[in-house]
Amino acid sequence: MAEVPGARILVADDDQSLVKTLTWILKEHGYDVVSTPSGERLFEQLEEAQPNLLLLDIMMPRVDGLQLLQRLKNDPRWRDLPVLMVSSMPPEEATVKALGLGASDFIAKPFRVRELLARVQSHLRTGRELRRAREDARSSSAMIEILQEVTDSLKPDEIYSILVRRVARVLSISKCSMVLGRAGDPHGVVVAAYENPMLRNLQVDLVRYPEIRHALARGRSVLVRDVKTDPLYAEVREHWSRDGIQVATRSAAAVPFSMRDQQVGVFFLRTTGEDPPLTEADAQFAETVIRNAVAAIEKAYDLQSAVSDRNRLEALARTDALTGCLNRRALAESLDTELDRARRYDLAIAILLADIDRFKEINDSRGHVTGDSVLRQIGEILRREARSVDIVARYGGEEFVVVMPETQMQGAANFAERLRKRIEGHDFADPGMDPLNLTISVGLAAFPDDRVKSAESFVDRADQALYRAKNEGRNVVRQ
Ligand code: GH3
Ligand code: MG
Ligand code: MG
Repeated sequence: MAEVPGARILVADDDQSLVKTLTWILKEHGYDVVSTPSGERLFEQLEEAQPNLLLLDIMMPRVDGLQLLQRLKNDPRWRDLPVLMVSSMPPEEATVKALGLGASDFIAKPFRVRELLARVQSHLRTGRELRRAREDARSSSAMIEILQEVTDSLKPDEIYSILVRRVARVLSISKCSMVLGRAGDPHGVVVAAYENPMLRNLQVDLVRYPEIRHALARGRSVLVRDVKTDPLYAEVREHWSRDGIQVATRSAAAVPFSMRDQQVGVFFLRTTGEDPPLTEADAQFAETVIRNAVAAIEKAYDLQSAVSDRNRLEALARTDALTGCLNRRALAESLDTELDRARRYDLAIAILLADIDRFKEINDSRGHVTGDSVLRQIGEILRREARSVDIVARYGGEEFVVVMPETQMQGAANFAERLRKRIEGHDFADPGMDPLNLTISVGLAAFPDDRVKSAESFVDRADQALYRAKNEGRNVVRQ
């Protein structure tokens, strides 16, 4: 048995009997051996065989082994491949040249089998370590970049998208997604998928994904190297053949992750067709990425709920509980802002103050509950009639203000008149009760106006107009 199991060695030598012997010896010791009789097709052979070590003859017909070595060492694809030069050239000369060009070692012909095997083994080991070190370096710098991008973003969905995209690219796989779900759940929810960036919150039946179910149940990564042979997929395969389903997936890895000690989902990697199947190292990389990203995801969720909590609280603090209109404080703020804007950009702005006529009598005759219902309905009518840019607020008990940006007095008067008529014609009674009709009086004010210095003085102007409306018999609009 070779001590580096499964290692593949490419032998490039024109001496056929030597190649035969070498192949036999190496195979005897558990290595996988490929050979090429000349140096001319060396690069093609390398591409094809992807060897872990190359035994290269220095003197071959038409090609110079040392030149090949030089080309190899300048090619980033083969730079790390250990090359053992084999030659009958005088050792001193050849060794110096070959080692100078980056060969790992030099073996003179004729060689002793035991020595050759020892050197092959030792260079395979260092070659593997070098490759690992380079892979580690590459994946850790990729990791740092991924985490930087992840911590820069504030939304969980955004982070999931970044993770699937970046990990798919680093591992060169075509399918990479994030599936949320818990142990025992029949369904999972795909929150991001590299293969389909537009996808959001797609529910999937986990019966079809045994590796996901297993990963969630065990809390450990599950790697399926080949879905066509893995026992985990036996049931699913039966289902495929029963339904005549052709699957593109070849290998899959489900990497579970948890937040706040709770299993919440899997990082799901897949390869298709002829792509190289996923390895333990791929799953490990995904594991490390997701483990490091969890804190950022948790923070993003916290932030999201804090932001929505804060928004909800703020919205509540600005709203009048009975009518759903803005309250008086929020009106003052909004009106200040609108007035500033009007002043700065030389825009018109108008407001109306509406007061229910003889509202006290409604309360007295029909009760406060009906009075409240009236106020709610007035609020609804105002909001429905107003434009989306208008601000509708409950100013006091039965007084409402509508702020109309970019509106002049005439426009405001038209709107107020329409409103007055709409309310006059509306039946405010609850279903089945005696009709309940009422009217409003409306005072208007418009900006620009020299007397308007602030939101307060603006409403004052409208209040004075309202006073006139009341004095002149109610159910009228005055300015
Ligand atoms: P007018 O404006 O036409 O002069 O007469 P009015 O009866 O509407 O006048 P006033 O301003 O004196 O009365 C307002 C009434 O509105 C007093 C109060 O009982 C009632 N009111 C104020 N806020 C509420 C409320 O939240 N719910 C109910 N049901 N009534 C309210
Ligand atoms: Mg009133
Ligand atoms: Mg009043």
